[in-house]
Amino acid sequence: MKKQRILVSACLLGENCRYDGKNNLVKELKSLAKYFDFVPICPEVNGGLKIPRNPAEIQEDSVIDCKGRDVTENYFDGAVWAVSIANQLNIKIAILKEKSPSCGVRKIHNGKFDGGLIDGEGFTTKRLKKYGIRVLSEEDIPALIEEMEAKESAR
Ligand code: SF4
Repeated sequence: MKKQRILVSACLLGENCRYDGKNNLVKELKSLAKYFDFVPICPEVNGGLKIPRNPAEIQEDSVIDCKGRDVTENYFDGAVWAVSIANQLNIKIAILKEKSPSCGVRKIHNGKFDGGLIDGEGFTTKRLKKYGIRVLSEEDIPALIEEMEAKESAR
């Protein structure tokens, strides 16, 4: 079976691209390597932000870092870049990091820098979905493994 490509938040693959220079490695991703070729993306770094960088949160339609700097343009550019990668490589699915202002799928921080969460999507998630990409989070990996196993056994 030819593997499809899938976008994956680079920090979930162990890349130290988080705001604090760390990663969010998720070992369960290895089980998906049988079905997919991973295409790592970090929209914040690609949108021009450095590692490390100040943490930032979504406030209404903007992204503001903890020092009050408006970094919306970087987040927007990163989201546009991610869609262009998906289009160039004909990618239809992504696994992104929950709670991030770029990559969050169901939850994001509340914009108050107090650790609180609200329902919402990151900038990149929103844009990928707008262009028809199916976006899952790391919490959906077990369900995706089951889905792929079921497809395989139905062949
Ligand atoms: S932008 Fe996405 S890939 Fe980059 S560090 Fe944040 S959550 Fe990870």
